[in-house]
Amino acid sequence: MATALIIGAGGVGRVVAHKCVQNRETFDRIVLASRTLKRCEEIQSELPEGAIEITTVDADSTEETAALIKKVGADIVINVALPYQDLAIMDACVQTGVPYLDTANYEHPDEAKFEYKLQWARDNAFKEAGIMGLLGSGFDPGATNVFCAYAQKHYFDEIHTIDILDCNAGDHGYPFATNFNPEINLREVSAKGRYWENGEWIETEPMEIHFTWEYPEVGPKESYLLYHEEMESLVKHIKGLKRIRFFMTFGQSYLTHMKCLENVGMLGIEPVEHQGMKIVPIEFLKTLLPDPASLGPRTKGKTNIGIVAEGIKDGKKRKIYIYQVKDHEECYAEVKSQGVSYTTGVPAVIGAKLMMEGVWSGTGVFNMEQLNPDPFMDEMNTQGLPWKVLELE
Ligand code: NDP
Repeated sequence: MATALIIGAGGVGRVVAHKCVQNRETFDRIVLASRTLKRCEEIQSELPEGAIEITTVDADSTEETAALIKKVGADIVINVALPYQDLAIMDACVQTGVPYLDTANYEHPDEAKFEYKLQWARDNAFKEAGIMGLLGSGFDPGATNVFCAYAQKHYFDEIHTIDILDCNAGDHGYPFATNFNPEINLREVSAKGRYWENGEWIETEPMEIHFTWEYPEVGPKESYLLYHEEMESLVKHIKGLKRIRFFMTFGQSYLTHMKCLENVGMLGIEPVEHQGMKIVPIEFLKTLLPDPASLGPRTKGKTNIGIVAEGIKDGKKRKIYIYQVKDHEECYAEVKSQGVSYTTGVPAVIGAKLMMEGVWSGTGVFNMEQLNPDPFMDEMNTQGLPWKVLELE
């Protein structure tokens, strides 16, 4: 039995709160803390009375977060605030000796760049504190890393290439909206593409490389090469890897809007002077765009996220596709949230559950593929994210 402290009451935080309540046998006490109490109150009101406690925290402050962890007596901190808070929350966990989990790697608010360097640098501190830190326990990163570990364990002697394929075929009816935090999403998508081949990172122009993939239960979709954080850890941990790429689908309307916003400077992260005030264009854009948490009741269609791995088994070539399909309306009916938040929040709860049950254990900072994939894959089947494996060759 564990006390879970969830930090961040956004789209993903909502799913994590609902799912922790569904996993009462593991999390007997659940505290949801976020910057704005109103967001916590909304989530609390959707759940049975007394199911969760709520409070405020500024998770940019290590001291404030550490004080809250102590006050609550947390057994685990589930960080589903923004990537900007990762380091402050990790340091608070080290100070208090409480295990840590997140779903996205650290990003500095003033630099559109994400990497594991600063989180991996805390490995020794986690070891000295005798605690586990689980990085990137969402869907991608998260379940996709586990799919790679599962492929490596059960299907290959050596994996040579991996393509991660992320398709959201949901339609929310707005001309333009993002499915998770607009600032994080637009920074990721408008950045240069990057993939890894033969030991080197190769940079591409944004959206330069694309192809059509036939996504089961969704259909053919144009998929664009992006840089994505799980590749940084997978190149370290998957045996014999020669190439890894990440593709995401986008509709033409999304791409046209994004290009236009970029061309007029609305994706800028530097403050600009406006009528005597300093404003950051992308922050202002976030204010204008629909709140991702409000997309839930409007979104129809499915997500399909998976990996295609090619390599060698018993001297023969093999190619497999592991994927998971989720229906947005089904997610909303279950936890009042659309599929992108659902497919992120459920793996976060699975990771936390495995840590609290001691199924996944260790001291230091871990990426998902470093742990035994089997219990995670089993939990996905029972917690609402059933997956399939296809033999392609
Ligand atoms: P939202 O913007 O909807 O929610 C973020 C929440 O964090 C908000 O409630 C916000 O508060 C709160 N927050 C922000 N700053 C602070 C702070 N300093 N202290 C306390 N709380 C704070 O984002 P999402 O729910 O969509 O995303 C959550 C995380 O999940 C992000 O890190 C995102 O990158 C990650 N993610 C990972 C995916 C994966 O597959 N691995 C996929 C999608 C998202 P307020 O309400 O006041 O703004």
